[in-house]
Amino acid sequence: MVFLKVNFGGFVPLSTVDWRGRAVCTVFLRGCPVRCHYCQNAALQDGTDEREIGDVLAMVKESSLLVSGVVFSGGEATMQKEALLALAEGVQAMDLGVGLQTNGVYPATIRALLERRLVDKVSLDLKTQWRHYNNLLKEDFADRVKESLRLCTAAHHAGRLPEFEAVVTTFRGCEDDIAYIAKDAEGIDLVLQQGVIAGVAPLDFEELAAVADRLGRSVRIRTRQDGEVAYEGRRIVRAESIIEQERRSER
Ligand code: SF4
Repeated sequence: MVFLKVNFGGFVPLSTVDWRGRAVCTVFLRGCPVRCHYCQNAALQDGTDEREIGDVLAMVKESSLLVSGVVFSGGEATMQKEALLALAEGVQAMDLGVGLQTNGVYPATIRALLERRLVDKVSLDLKTQWRHYNNLLKEDFADRVKESLRLCTAAHHAGRLPEFEAVVTTFRGCEDDIAYIAKDAEGIDLVLQQGVIAGVAPLDFEELAAVADRLGRSVRIRTRQDGEVAYEGRRIVRAESIIEQERRSER
């Protein structure tokens, strides 16, 4: 039994949306130094709910017959380095995969997870182009996120991180940033995630596809309406729809 404590944010015993292709449970850790104006989990940015690591692992154990992995999310899970390392170790001991959703501002935690081979998938938020990080987040986290991106990209290419994706939450009016961000995410999976904020109409699938078309690369597009779709480019989608039309006319 591990007696280390963790500032706990919540537990979802079964999720099919947090790790593509897997049923997982999701553990939320409390606390985040970043203050995104669009945060969907603002209640987890602060506060205290200390739990024993062993108690959190017991929750995972109860779900372990239903899932093949655990995703750590938040808040910002990497803020609690020792607790996260202990949790990831405990999850691996149950023969489950370890996923991490992170904003990348604690590269030392990510380095430790990678060095100890304690993580199988990282979803790293890239919030804007580097020169805008300071304005967006009121603190300049860009260098820390760059380091996390570098560590994960290197580990992924070396085969030490099986799955790695950069996630860009995309808002109307910020479409021009995406080309700058995508340049830094060359060679890794890129997810354009529909950003939702009060008072601004979210970009729909077609609008996100138009953003992707300007990048000249494949992406995944994630919207509330359509879920997650692999998008290879408009020409391919059009070609598929032409084939489909031809098939229909033959019936
Ligand atoms: S980094 Fe994530 S948890 Fe932190 S404020 Fe932004 S959206 Fe919320």
